[in-house]
Amino acid sequence: MSARTDRTTFRQRPQRGSHDFDAMAAILDEALSCTIAFVDDGRPVSIPTTHWRMGERVLFHGGQGSRLARVMAAGAELCVTVTLVDGLVLARSAFHHSMNYRSVVLFGQAVEITDPAEKAAAFAALIEKLSPGRYASVRPPTDKELGATKLLALPLAEGGAKMRSGPPVDDEADMSWPVWAGVVPVTMVKGEPVAG
Ligand SMILES: Cc1cc2nc3c(=O)[nH]c(=O)nc-3n(C[C@H](O)[C@H](O)[C@H](O)COP(=O)(O)OP(=O)(O)OC[C@H]3O[C@@H](n4cnc5c(N)ncnc54)[C@H](O)[C@@H]3O)c2cc1C
Repeated sequence: MSARTDRTTFRQRPQRGSHDFDAMAAILDEALSCTIAFVDDGRPVSIPTTHWRMGERVLFHGGQGSRLARVMAAGAELCVTVTLVDGLVLARSAFHHSMNYRSVVLFGQAVEITDPAEKAAAFAALIEKLSPGRYASVRPPTDKELGATKLLALPLAEGGAKMRSGPPVDDEADMSWPVWAGVVPVTMVKGEPVAG
């Protein structure tokens, strides 16, 4: 379960933050990708990648030669972020423009999962996230394919979600400024499938 720690304490606008497990899980489940930040050779790096969740763990995978997978398997300290942009908040003043969003920041160390049965179940869950009901129809991974892929699990233990929703918050003195103000919703939609 998620715990509030010093580094997951929301500082600015803490009322937008939550350490609730379900709030974080919902954002992680909706997002298709995340970025994973770590320090490699003394320098910060942030790499976008795919994630999925099984219970209280967030999973990642990568080829055996991938730096990201290697660094995670070696126990690097990670900071994982997920962002869903829900709207452009167009205020009457330039200063109060904003975005509606739901985001998660997670900290921790991943562990590598090597058990073939656990790996197969995790990859099935990934396919199901991308296209529910699909795994039953596809060729399952071979032992060679499972061996070629590293699977990493990060406990959903130290992190939080932050959310902004609603209209712009303008200063009272600007309310009669002659410009349209409001929210332009932003959504990610799946298009018509294209056979390939
Ligand atoms: C799409 C989007 C656009 C944004 N635009 C801006 C912007 O233009 N300028 C700006 O200052 N801020 C912006 N934010 C908010 C930004 O993410 C931080 O929340 C903000 O900088 C306040 O950080 P802080 O100094 O209070 O906390 P920090 O000291 O930076 O963070 C303390 C802890 O709070 C948690 N935390 C902070 N922010 C988030 C978050 N977004 N999601 C989950 N956990 C979080 C983390 O656990 C972090 O370790 C945006 C957020 C999103 C998602």
